[in-house]
Amino acid sequence: MTCEKCKKNLDKKSFVVFDKFGELEEPMTYCYECFAELISTQYKYLGDNCEKCGAPLELKTDDLEEDIEEKILWYCCKKILEASDPEEYDDHDSVGEYVIQPEADWE
Ligand SMILES: [Zn+2]
Ligand SMILES: [Zn+2]
Repeated sequence: MTCEKCKKNLDKKSFVVFDKFGELEEPMTYCYECFAELISTQYKYLGDNCEKCGAPLELKTDDLEEDIEEKILWYCCKKILEASDPEEYDDHDSVGEYVIQPEADWE
């Protein structure tokens, strides 16, 4: 198995399988570094907007490694991310996206 992006050989532990949030029929495998880069650049925004205020939903991560391990990434209304008191914005959107859809059964 190799990383889709840098073509490095992947060992059994440190790779991430990603289906672009359900977009791909066949998920791709990335090394951790490439995945982290992909997610913080190309997937920094989800493409949806907050229903409350229309601001883009942006990746929220305190610990990307842990989020990847949990296989779920969080995207929040930009106002939540910028707020000094995020509780003021708790009616704004915040969504979790699976790195790979859990119902999929890849062989
Ligand atoms: Zn790579
Ligand atoms: Zn909002």
